[in-house]
Amino acid sequence: MVIVLLGPPGSGKGTQAERLNDNLGFYKVSMGDLFREAIKKEDSIGKEAKEQLAKGKLVQDATVIEMVRRELRKGKSRKNYVFDGFPRNINQAIAFDSLLKEENREIDAVFYFNIPFEKLVNRLTRRRICPRCGAVYNLETAPPIEQNTCDRCNTLLVRREDDIEEVIKSRFQVYTDETVPVKGYYQKRHLVITVNSGTSEERVWQNVKEYIERKLHEHRTKKGGNEKQEY
Ligand SMILES: [Zn+2]
Repeated sequence: MVIVLLGPPGSGKGTQAERLNDNLGFYKVSMGDLFREAIKKEDSIGKEAKEQLAKGKLVQDATVIEMVRRELRKGKSRKNYVFDGFPRNINQAIAFDSLLKEENREIDAVFYFNIPFEKLVNRLTRRRICPRCGAVYNLETAPPIEQNTCDRCNTLLVRREDDIEEVIKSRFQVYTDETVPVKGYYQKRHLVITVNSGTSEERVWQNVKEYIERKLHEHRTKKGGNEKQEY
């Protein structure tokens, strides 16, 4: 099963991707994590990504697509995937279809995280991240157990430099211009489920989980229903 999460930065899709990973065993492909890993490894792809990011640009499509291709090749035995932050534009969405086809897979559902801009600004200025493991917190909606400390690795949390209103606005604009059309692309194939992500994380999760559990059940019964739960 392949799930795509679409939404502006800060809509909470990263957290939902983590939950899918932790609770339902979905293999999470987060573009942010892939960039970080590739840069750390310093291979050719990592160098490309690093150069592009250093220029203050988004990582180019060809680089992003190559990263996803590698990820899919590595994971032949993986059953369920969740993609967070990919595809980011139509170009990537089209390339993604052929990558999946090569692997005999297809997208099962696209969750579209809908949130009004005002609410997003409010949320992002309260966001804190772990510089070590990438975990994301929110002082209001998802605070860490211990103040300002990562629950997972005990590292001191930081505020991202670009979580200020002006930068949020320009990122939201890029998202509206480039990613919202991706929703249209998938809508034509009846894959889109719109989630109101302006509510609590827990409520969003219940919606996402309910839908996916039903889908997983359908998948299993389609295959004869005799299998163990393997996801
Ligand atoms: Zn951490």
